[in-house]
Amino acid sequence: MNGSTTNGASSWTLTFSYAPVCACGCGALASATFSDGTQWSAECVKREQRRRAISSAEGWLTAALAAAPDVSRLYRSLAAAFHPDVGGDPALMVALNAVRERFPS
Ligand SMILES: [Zn+2]
Repeated sequence: MNGSTTNGASSWTLTFSYAPVCACGCGALASATFSDGTQWSAECVKREQRRRAISSAEGWLTAALAAAPDVSRLYRSLAAAFHPDVGGDPALMVALNAVRERFPS
């Protein structure tokens, strides 16, 4: 990103140039831009993708468990499908366990 500012009266120009930094505040230079316009460093982009994957999975899992007649039963079948041991997505398993704690039964 580039920019400049000019003081007309005394006629000086300050030109500055800076690279975008990671949206998480870690201060690292951003190297990836998400569709929402946020920019992330190479180190943080994977963590942010994972955070978003978990967060969106928590949304639909909450709806699914809320609608389930038998939460424990649905949990067990989802856990069986999501478990990394059977090739499931670890992010889904994390989300499922977080959501399960909100449905004590
Ligand atoms: Zn960062």
